Amino acid sequence: MMLAEDIVRCGYTAPIKMDNKETIIRKGMELFLVNQMTANAETCRPPFVPGMITKPDADVIMMNCHPQYSEKGTSRERTEWKIINFLQDFLEELEISDGEMASATAEVSESLAVEDVLQWMTGQAHIPILPNEKQHFKITLKFDHECWERLGDHSTCYPVVNACTCTVIFPVHLTTYSDFRKTMTEALRYGHGLHRI
Ligand SMILES: [Zn+2]
Repeated sequence: MMLAEDIVRCGYTAPIKMDNKETIIRKGMELFLVNQMTANAETCRPPFVPGMITKPDADVIMMNCHPQYSEKGTSRERTEWKIINFLQDFLEELEISDGEMASATAEVSESLAVEDVLQWMTGQAHIPILPNEKQHFKITLKFDHECWERLGDHSTCYPVVNACTCTVIFPVHLTTYSDFRKTMTEALRYGHGLHRI
């Protein structure tokens, strides 16, 4: 068999037969992985070292959010800033209540953490580890000012998320923080934010 030498070099010691094909391939893959990990030790370290996958916190999410604000000085822009402030408050509230559930915030924090928001926005609950992923990590935030014209009379709009493109579209008629909090909590928990009522 032509590959025998390579197979032995991988550390495979059992008889080299077609019947053992799977085991041989597995052995080869193991060696390949070990080689790759040795050569790229720094990049590969985080998943294997406790504490190195940093849990996302409110700041990290906000730093990677890119809101597409309307023209400066317009009332639209002011409304959009308000929504972004709500988002920051919401993330901070989840961060503070993480695992502890202070009674005042119990309804929100009941099984929600900052990771859940990241998962909902991007499809993954951890901050990118690979340099390439890190570089492209960006959450686009857009604002929907036209839902009244499109949908007519309605009371609640949920944010619409597209995890593939890391884009979230917020309705702007979330006028108070408690509205925002309630809507976000429901979107995160039940619908992943694709519906309007
Ligand atoms: Zn609406």
